[in-house]
Formats: sequence, structure tokens, C-alpha cells
Amino acid sequence: MKNFDPNYFCQQFPLLTENLSSQDKPIIYFDNAATTQKPICVIDSYKTYYHNFNANVHRASHALSAKATTAFEKVREDVKRFIHAKSSKEIIWTKGSTESLNLIACTLGEQIVNRGDEIIVAVSEHHANIVPWQLLAKKKGAVIKVLTLDDNGVVDINAFEKLINTKTKIVCCSHISNVIGKINPIKAIVEKAKALGAISVIDGAQAIAHVPVNVQSIGCDFYVFSAHKMFGPTGVGVLYGKQALLEVMPPYQAGGEMIKTVSFNQETTFNTLPFKFEAGTPNIAGVVAFGQAINFTEQYDVNQLQHYEKKLGQYCYQALRNIPQIHFIVQHAPDIPLFSFTVDGHHNHDIASTLDSLGIAIRSGHHCAMPLMEYLNISGCLRVSLATYNSIEEVDYFIACLQKIIANTDNQVVYGQQENTDKEQSLASDKLVTQFANLDGWHNRHREIMLLSKQLTRLDKAARNDDSLIRGCESLAWLQASCDKQGIYTFEADSDAKVIRGLLVIVLAAFNGKTAQEIQHFDIDGYFESLGLIRQLSPSRSNGLLAIVEKIKSLVVSVE
Ligand code: PLP
Repeated sequence: MKNFDPNYFCQQFPLLTENLSSQDKPIIYFDNAATTQKPICVIDSYKTYYHNFNANVHRASHALSAKATTAFEKVREDVKRFIHAKSSKEIIWTKGSTESLNLIACTLGEQIVNRGDEIIVAVSEHHANIVPWQLLAKKKGAVIKVLTLDDNGVVDINAFEKLINTKTKIVCCSHISNVIGKINPIKAIVEKAKALGAISVIDGAQAIAHVPVNVQSIGCDFYVFSAHKMFGPTGVGVLYGKQALLEVMPPYQAGGEMIKTVSFNQETTFNTLPFKFEAGTPNIAGVVAFGQAINFTEQYDVNQLQHYEKKLGQYCYQALRNIPQIHFIVQHAPDIPLFSFTVDGHHNHDIASTLDSLGIAIRSGHHCAMPLMEYLNISGCLRVSLATYNSIEEVDYFIACLQKIIANTDNQVVYGQQENTDKEQSLASDKLVTQFANLDGWHNRHREIMLLSKQLTRLDKAARNDDSLIRGCESLAWLQASCDKQGIYTFEADSDAKVIRGLLVIVLAAFNGKTAQEIQHFDIDGYFESLGLIRQLSPSRSNGLLAIVEKIKSLVVSVE
């Protein structure tokens, strides 16, 4: 077993050591709850696989296929061991937690849920563990019962006991929420569900990377997770299910590998577990690479990894707590190094985008947990999530940057006025292009966008309404249009995020003073390219910008 040395450990991740941010420093990656970076052994595994033993699994009777199958099936054994499943027949390959959850809803859900039945879903769940159940409930006429949280931010076991009854067919809860970072009392939930004959589905997408998982001791019927959250590749996920349940569930997708016999004259019969649920050629290279990720972690003493992660997390939590403007979304320290908070006087997107321009990646928004945001009465929050390759020095730099951003409060807003009145009323797009051409790097361009935000004439409160709202933009943003007799359009817009206001100035500079036809045909991507912003902000890719452009185009159509 290798001794855990944080420096050496980090060196195994080329993205973190071989790439520089716009600050000419190694990238600081604090968005590990979304996905983790990959160690070199995982990256190399793809090359080795395709160079040396690429073949389809299970089917052929040649040596290459046997080699590929052996490697592929060995990883199933590795996963079985990793989560302490009883049998490798209980390990089904999927493309991620989301697909695993959909598989359960579409097979077992279809089988056991009927009109009037109830499905309990915790309010803190990721959309992946909400929407499949909503679809199922709608189709079957079943009811979703929402399980609330206690004061500490974990699912409220007392509320659960009141919610569950003999109509409850399925109980869905994450082991650890991707926003709250605390361990839910899943053993108690599973036990109670079992006592009332309900199926328990545990979403382990976050927990798998941070806490030892023993599905037999948890006692759950299903446990799902994704390889990419634990240094493995994207496109590989696991559905653990109790064998007895998997045996009687109908298949999910149909096609090769999941069949035993196919005939036009007799009923098609299905393969044994786990293949019954694995239609088509699986992600063989991904599964093999996932095996490397498991081996990579298992070479270290889990206690050493956890000790370091805990120390790093406590350090970061304490440093964040020392900033008075920060409000954590729940009380008390989380169980994993994942911190969600808002900052007084600053929009989440402004903080996240400024940190990004300083080479630090953190997440802002609803984190695919919109019901939780609603429950907490916030529109979104910032999330910092650490992994074992992160360091105390990175945390120090992050905290210093965050403190500087917070100290720079120039957010006093006078609605109906330009914040910076000595600037020209409107900017021509070609002037902006020249202005941006003189700027070097994303950091300077981002600063310019933030400065531009001051030139936006803020909309009156009455004008920031449902009609003018730009839907699909994660921060609140509004836009209204007027058209003169010559068919020339003028747009006014606003947002609660400074960075979006800056982008609105840029977008409006392109569209203001144009006719409907000119607007419809304007090459917005080309414009962003000439501003040197396309790498960070492509209007056809970036949801927020796309939503703004689409709103402009829809207003042009409707005003025409
Ligand atoms: N569940 C939780 C708690 C998550 O954090 C995520 C991803 O962030 C998912 C489910 C969905 O995982 P995937 O996108 O890998 O399917």
C-alpha cells in the first residue's frame, strides 16, 4: 500500500499540473462534486485498451474478445468488492447515476407502482432522483410525497415516519446531497421502508467518492453512482440492485446481449443477470478505465485519504466561516468537503465568474436541485467541493481572492439610471470589438465585462416582470423591446448579476438600432469570436447567452 503524500497524489492528475489558468498558475479545481479530474492511469488506460485488446465483449470466440471480456468483467468484480455487494450479478453497468435511476423507474417502477400509490422523494434530491419518479407518477396516477429536512439539513427521520405508510411503494433518498454535503440517515430510512414493504433507492453519486459504502450493511434495495465522480471516466455508471429484485424486474432496453433467444415463432427470452439489463455494446473502454480509477484509490490507505480530506475540509470551512458576509445554506459543518453558501451583496454568478477569471473553478446556480433551492428560499448558491488532490495552499489562494471580491462592493443600484453616467449612452459593437482587441486574456476581458455592466441603464422594478423575464438564464434577467416607425429596434435589459449586465451591454450593442431582418441574421457567434470571448462564452452553447439572444429574436417576431 502506498503512503499518501498530497503532493505526489496531485502530480498524478495532468489536467491540474500541466495546464495553466489565465493567471499563468495551475488551475484550481473546486468543482469536484460535478466531476473529478482523472489520474494518468485512467487516461492511459484508454490508449492501452484500444492499442492492445479492443474487441467486443462476451460475443466472439477469439482471443482478443476473451481478453476484453476478462478485463471488463474484472471491473465488475472490483465494483462488487468496492461496495460490498453479495454478487457481481448485482452490478449493472449504466452510463451514470441518472441512467441507473431511470432504469429503476422504468422497470421496477412500472411493475409495482399503481394508481393512488405513493413515492417518497427527499426535497434535497438531485433532479436525476426526482424527475424519473415524477414521470412514473404521472403515467401511473401515483403521488409523490416530499420528504423534508431537519434543522441540520439532513432528511428528517421523524417526518419520514409520518410520511411513509402502506401505500408507499418506493422511497428515494441520496446518501449525501450534492448541495448539503451531509450524510443522510439512510440506514434508518431503509429499515423503515423495508418494514412497510417499500423499495429503497439510494443515490450514492456523491457519497461514493467520500465515504466507504457497504450496500449489505445499508440494506438498501438499490444504490446508484457514477464513475466520473470518483476519478473514473464519464459515461460509466453503476446500478446496484438486490439480486432477488433484479431477477424479477422486466428488462430496460432491448437488443443484443440482454437476450437468451430471439424468435419470430416463440417468445423472446432474456439473458441472466447482470446482462439482462445491458443491451447493446457497453462502454468497454470506459469500464476498463473505471477499474484503473478504483485500483488507483485502493493503493492508498483509505484512512489516510479520509484524514487528509477531513483536514482540508475543516480548514476550508473554518476560513469560509471567518468571512462575515458568507451565509452557509445549512447549519454546522458538512460531512464531506462540500460547502454551499451565498454572499451578502454579491450575486453568485458574479463571484463564480470573477473567481473563474482568477483561475479558480467553483460552481454557482441551482446545482440541479431546484426544489431544494425553493425549499431554502434561495434562487441559487455557490458551491465549493474539494477532492484529495486539492491543497491547503489552493484554499488559501481561493479565500484571499474571495475576500478581495467581497471587499470590492460597488453594487449600489439606482434603478432606471445608468450606474456610470459619464459614459456614452450606448456603445457601438465595432467600438467594443476594438476595445476588447486590446485586452489580453480572459481575466482582463472578464474585468472589462464587469466594468461594462455599469453602463447598462437599469430597468424600473415595474419593467422587471414576467413578460420581460428571460427564461433559461440562471440569474434573473429581463429584456424589453421597442420599435420605431422605421422598424428600428431598441432593447433595454437588466439582470441581478453584474456579469450578465455586462454581457447584456455587449449583446445590446450588437442588436440595438437594427431592423428585424438584421437582428434575425446577425452572426452573434462571429461577434463573440471577434471580441475574443468565444472560448469562454459561446452564445450558441452558453445557456444564459443563448436565452438572451432567443428572447431578443422572439420579441422581434412578436413586435413585428
Ligand atoms: N445524484 C447526485 C446526488 C448528483 O450529484 C449527480 C450529479 O451531479 C447525479 C445524481 C447525476 O449524476 P450523473 O450526471 O453522473 O448521472
